[in-house]
Amino acid sequence: MRDFAAELEQRRQSGLYRVRRQVSGPQQPLLVSDGRPLLSFCSNDYLGMASHPELSRVAAGAMQANGLGGAASHLICGHHDAHHQLEQRLASFTGRSSALFFSTGYMANMGVIAALAGRGDTIFSDRLNHASIIDGCILSRARVRRYPHGDTEALEAMLKSTDGHKLVVTDGVFSMDGDIAPLAELARLCRRHEALLVVDDAHGIGVLGPQGRGSVAELGLSEEDVPVLIGTLGKGIGTSGAFVAGPELLMDYLVQKARTYIYTTAMPPAIASATCASLDLVEHEQHRREHLVKLISAFRQGATEMGYELMPSRTPIQPIMVGDNWMALALSRALEERGLLVTAIRPPTVPEGEARLRVTLSAAHAMDDLQQLLDGLSDCRHILNAREEQVV
Ligand SMILES: *Cc1c(COP(=O)(O)O)cnc(C)c1O
Repeated sequence: MRDFAAELEQRRQSGLYRVRRQVSGPQQPLLVSDGRPLLSFCSNDYLGMASHPELSRVAAGAMQANGLGGAASHLICGHHDAHHQLEQRLASFTGRSSALFFSTGYMANMGVIAALAGRGDTIFSDRLNHASIIDGCILSRARVRRYPHGDTEALEAMLKSTDGHKLVVTDGVFSMDGDIAPLAELARLCRRHEALLVVDDAHGIGVLGPQGRGSVAELGLSEEDVPVLIGTLGKGIGTSGAFVAGPELLMDYLVQKARTYIYTTAMPPAIASATCASLDLVEHEQHRREHLVKLISAFRQGATEMGYELMPSRTPIQPIMVGDNWMALALSRALEERGLLVTAIRPPTVPEGEARLRVTLSAAHAMDDLQQLLDGLSDCRHILNAREEQVV
């Protein structure tokens, strides 16, 4: 039998062993963990919607009316009015003809990719795509060609040298780097080479573009440019689940073929109702995005002045590059001693030698919260100096 204990020990020794932190109370910047308050800079609740009282109120009302459980899959008797309304709302929010509501982003990517590509087809996937996209590619049994991150020239060469059905898939905003895919150029290439473009805008929805319609809308790309748009609802939108939006024909095809849509219990209808309410707020409350932009620029300026290495990101995902796994852990722990929660991200989530602290900002952070982070980073800067001296 495989030696699982030895594999775990190996992980511990490489600084790759992971533990779960337990938190109590609502998800907001000030978390309680082990009875101790921690100011968090690591959630994906970019707009501060996760603990918005209006959403709990709507969800509670919907549960009173419709009960809690989803009870059956969508194709049996689980497809509720509330799901249907949310799908229409998502289509109008994204400017698409129609949309499908999935239980999670992970399932949306697995189901959509495996349904739209199969044996004999080729999928072109950005090297830094999310794990759920990678797994969807594997599940599809199509040939997978990974192209260097954001490199449209390399992609075009690959597209030219490939026959048959082609699908190109990319994150809109990359989850560990915070940069944005070259979407306009990808759309152009896909048209020219007759490839189907799939964009997963998990981190752009709610955050980027007019009224928070995402990275695809920010560039004014239509349904013809990006026929398959995936988004998640547990990040900027603050609830749970995910969606895929696009032409009716494709959505119809997915209802027939996407196994992660078909063979799973429908989400509680109350989640769909609360998500509709969140979309209304997200769309209208521009001040959340404006505040976020101020936080992002103040963070970048402060951290850069201290000599931290940032990534070219204008999104709320602001990684601090460290490199070494233990160094990233040491910096994260030193910040935690100061009451600041910023998680160290290590391989295999990021490439080997690219361990980092993934700082995420939220409209729920006050400017004073950000100042506390910057003060903490200033106190802890010497940890990275130690490394630089060792290298020299
Ligand atoms: C978080 C994330 C997902 C998964 O979404 P869940 O709803 O959390 O399962 C998919 N794609 C990307 C790019 C993500 O960051």
